[in-house]
Amino acid sequence: MTVKRQGVDELLGLDKFTIDEENAHIRLNKEICANCKDKPCLVVCPAKLYKLNDNGEVSFDYAGCLECGTCRIMCKDKGIVLWKYPAGTLGVAFRCG
Ligand code: SF4
Repeated sequence: MTVKRQGVDELLGLDKFTIDEENAHIRLNKEICANCKDKPCLVVCPAKLYKLNDNGEVSFDYAGCLECGTCRIMCKDKGIVLWKYPAGTLGVAFRCG
């Protein structure tokens, strides 16, 4: 029997996302994020949704969020000013490969 190993991108690609275009379930305060020295969000998000743009600012897109809550816990400067689960039936649906 051959077991096929799947990479992270491949596994994430199996999940289904229904995005709430009207209401972001995570919001950042850009001023707080700009002054945060460590920016843990850049390394802890398993979906790699936090990025540094060309101006050195944190950019974030909640589409693709796995709703794990890691960023909320690790955001020590409280730049995440809103974190809630998406409304029922919206957000991520996990599908195992
Ligand atoms: S809740 Fe998890 S997947 Fe979503 S943005 Fe935060 S760390 Fe990334």
